[in-house]
Amino acid sequence: MTGISSDDAALAARAAELTPSLVDRLVRLARIPSVAAPGFPAEPLLDAHRALVEELRAVGVGQIDQVLLDGMTAPTVVADVPGPPGAPTVLVYTHYDVVPAGDEGLWDTPPFEPVVSADRVVGRGVADSKGNIAAILGALQLVDGRPPVTLRIVLEGHEEFGSVYEEHPPAHPELYAADAIVIADVGNVRPGVPTLTIGLRGSVTMTVEARTLDTDKHSGQFGGAAPDARTALIRALASLHDARGDLAVAGLRREPWTGASYTDDEFRELAGVLPGVPLVGTGDLGSRIWSGAAVTVIAFDAPPASAPLNAVASSARAVLNLRVHPAQPAREAGEALAAHLRAQRPFGIDLDVTVGEAGDGFLAPTGGPAFRAAQTALRTAWDGAEVGTLALGGSIPIVMAFHEAQPGAEKLLFGATDGYANIHGPNERQLLDELTRTVVALAVFWRELAAGPTGPGTAGPGTTDPGTTDPGATDPGADR
Ligand SMILES: [Zn+2]
Repeated sequence: MTGISSDDAALAARAAELTPSLVDRLVRLARIPSVAAPGFPAEPLLDAHRALVEELRAVGVGQIDQVLLDGMTAPTVVADVPGPPGAPTVLVYTHYDVVPAGDEGLWDTPPFEPVVSADRVVGRGVADSKGNIAAILGALQLVDGRPPVTLRIVLEGHEEFGSVYEEHPPAHPELYAADAIVIADVGNVRPGVPTLTIGLRGSVTMTVEARTLDTDKHSGQFGGAAPDARTALIRALASLHDARGDLAVAGLRREPWTGASYTDDEFRELAGVLPGVPLVGTGDLGSRIWSGAAVTVIAFDAPPASAPLNAVASSARAVLNLRVHPAQPAREAGEALAAHLRAQRPFGIDLDVTVGEAGDGFLAPTGGPAFRAAQTALRTAWDGAEVGTLALGGSIPIVMAFHEAQPGAEKLLFGATDGYANIHGPNERQLLDELTRTVVALAVFWRELAAGPTGPGTAGPGTTDPGTTDPGATDPGADR
């Protein structure tokens, strides 16, 4: 299967014919400001839910249920499409809520009035993740509503803001039984480069506090001998990195990254790093952002610079966010960071360190039949391009929820967006070519998985990477 067969070419041609209808569906959904954040109206979220049910019916899905838990405004759609008897089951997940538009002044066009041009749709939520919904609908159209696998489609309406739905899969694992679970809330490293996301970093929140005086004191009268809590805290925080920006905390796992990655220039552009400002840290970029830890000071108690106060601070708190190597237990990494901070004792002052919420990361095994089927599917959809592997620096909690519910199901992360889609930012966009190819990828994935493993030779160029053929690749030492 090194080339693209005539069947595949025909499939791609049919998908291309479907593109206008995909765009119509995407535009319809993207017009609905389905923001689930607190303070936003419920109606659009419910409208989006209704629209989805209609769209699913339109592509022939007969069985559509919902999960609505306390604390959820809009239900999670659970739709089933039975496959042939004995066919494997594929669960496909994505979400229909979107983040708010943000500063609308930064958008070239109104965020909820999607604009279609020759190669893209621009609007809030088109890439995260309504494009993926359009792709799932398109793939069902492509197989005339009769996939060769049993499909369970799960579309959530509360992904972006503190989802309570995440509790559902671990509590009802039988509802999520599947051979493969596709989390279509991600995409390619860059347009044209088919990518499977195999790792997600874990995350830990931590509060650090310095207390030095009964109360704040005049800095002229007491400064110089009375210990300033902010300065003490800053000294401790400054110990977290060395002069080059590498983490200087023992016990945080980091390994070289061997999958696809960004160039430094691409990353600078994506991150919007100002001219003359260097990137921090050394070594390959992937190990800094994906297969290594990162600490960010996400809050710090201090008067704003616009309202300074001549006082020695009696106490100060900082909140840190620690991102953890995908395979290191988050608690373990959190304790390593806490131990480092407690050992600092700036000016001899003990710091109070509290480890807060900790969520483990995820590292997908890369040797199973569904992974191989996905590689074949992506390579086919992108005209034989080599399939790269990627990790994400952030977490997708639903991945862990599915993993807890169904540890034996292979989790696959791919989808229609890409690293340049500007998700969560202004002028978010979905490329039409990527969308159409994702439709093909889903259909070919179902076909390949249904056909079952056909031995060596089905794997193509993407699997010549020793990391991706290694069934022991849950050990990132072997994979990255
Ligand atoms: Zn998303």
